Amino acid sequence: MRELEERIKQEGIVREGNVLKVDSFLNHQCDVALYADMGDEWARRFSGRPVDKILTIEASGIGIACVAATRFNNTPVVFARKSQSINLDGEQYVARVHSYTHGNDNTVIVAKRFLNKGEHVLIIDDFLANGCALDGLIEICEQAGAIVEGIGIAVEKGFQPGGKRLREKGFDVQSLAIVKSMDAKTGKIEFE
Ligand code: 5GP
Repeated sequence: MRELEERIKQEGIVREGNVLKVDSFLNHQCDVALYADMGDEWARRFSGRPVDKILTIEASGIGIACVAATRFNNTPVVFARKSQSINLDGEQYVARVHSYTHGNDNTVIVAKRFLNKGEHVLIIDDFLANGCALDGLIEICEQAGAIVEGIGIAVEKGFQPGGKRLREKGFDVQSLAIVKSMDAKTGKIEFE
């Protein structure tokens, strides 16, 4: 998606350790007009697929998923929580996820009443690197008996293995910008 690639080129900051900062428009300050265009693009790419629910993970996925939901008949958005919360009542799906940016392990949790057997789920997230976050969300769908119809990603780092691995498993992964390479010294970012 050209518009997203242009914004990443203009405003993205490449950090050592293969981290791309896009917090001026994607995951700290939020450009909702861009989010809407991203939602339109996913709606086009996933057209014809039944979507009962959008599943994402806190925190950065929530805004993107909520705006995208307006392009999928205002379907409900459920976000996985990253740690045990006293607000949850014991009836939960739980999966372990390794955090790429923080280098630690998290438990992701979805209350069972918000994800049901046979529901068609579109997973949305901001970044795809090694695919650990998505593994956790897929595992939660499997526990629920829900069907993963597709995975919509804003920025995939194509030089990391998550996207290839998930596509080889048969998932329909639609990334709106796929970074081929990036250089922390020069700041140069190239797309596939
Ligand atoms: P994965 O689990 O695929 O390795 O990493 C995905 C998660 O890590 C995303 O939900 C995102 O929050 C975070 N992440 C991974 N790589 C980057 C990056 O380069 N920049 C930012 N801002 N977040 C990243």
